[in-house]
Amino acid sequence: MAARILDGRALAAELRGAIAERSTVLRTRGIVPRLEVVVVGADAASLAYVRGLESAGAKTGVEVRVARLPADGDEGQVRTLLRVLGDDPVVHGVILQQPLPAHLGIRRVAEAMPPAKDVDGANPLNFGRLAFGSGTELVAATPLAVMALLERSERSALRGVRVCVVGRSSVVGLPVALLLLARDATVTVVHRGTRDLGSRTREADVLVSAAGVPGLVRADMVAPRATVIDVGTTYVDGALRGDVAYDEVARVAAEITPVPGGVGPVTNVMLMGNVVTAAERHGPTAHDDRAS
Ligand code: ADP
Repeated sequence: MAARILDGRALAAELRGAIAERSTVLRTRGIVPRLEVVVVGADAASLAYVRGLESAGAKTGVEVRVARLPADGDEGQVRTLLRVLGDDPVVHGVILQQPLPAHLGIRRVAEAMPPAKDVDGANPLNFGRLAFGSGTELVAATPLAVMALLERSERSALRGVRVCVVGRSSVVGLPVALLLLARDATVTVVHRGTRDLGSRTREADVLVSAAGVPGLVRADMVAPRATVIDVGTTYVDGALRGDVAYDEVARVAAEITPVPGGVGPVTNVMLMGNVVTAAERHGPTAHDDRAS
């Protein structure tokens, strides 16, 4: 029996309405929720990504702008731009398009990301707060999207559920693991250093893959009737590919997210939701209200 498709486009459409309504309320107060996408250089993949964001922004009342730096832009330029955007009251959300060019280290620029505008969780301060369980300004959009899809899955009651997360990056794997632990799931995180990946992934009721390796997850690595969430987004010959060998895994799993059309569209909506939340908290009019 083929797996049920966890349809990210349908979920995104469902979630968009409430966010668009909140944007409309803000606009009547003179606040236009605005996201700035910092792009260093411009490859085809990042341009496609920005187009997806513009479309999600248009449907939720969020203005999406691109702040571009040249491909050879240095760390100092990125930090300066992040600070300028942090100080700009009409900007509510900022993301740094990744991967950055090889000469730029995300770890060396991430702390310059303004924490209150950090809609995709790049600043280690927000990550630390998540790990500490002390409440973040904003939970990053991609992990939120994974949780929203799981919410609609057969495994929505996550307590005691065995989850295997493939990948330990600070923007996806680790925050997803922390959010799942907070919901009392039993979480195993596997990565490049894991021996016999399949023996770990096969134990999981829920498999979340965020490795960025097309075709990494094969059918023999998946437990029968598992729920499979594919966070991988890699361009191969101009086409978007996930981590999961979809056709064969769909014959084993109970539920699966496609790529494209799974985690991506939900992430974009979550991102816009975070921008609107930031605008509600920190918009200039809200600030003026406090002052008066
Ligand atoms: P993302 O930002 O999508 O999380 P990163 O490139 O930052 O992507 O992280 C990729 C993660 O995937 C790393 O934690 C890495 O250890 C893991 N990974 C990459 N390749 C493999 C592999 N072949 N097997 C298991 N894990 C892998």
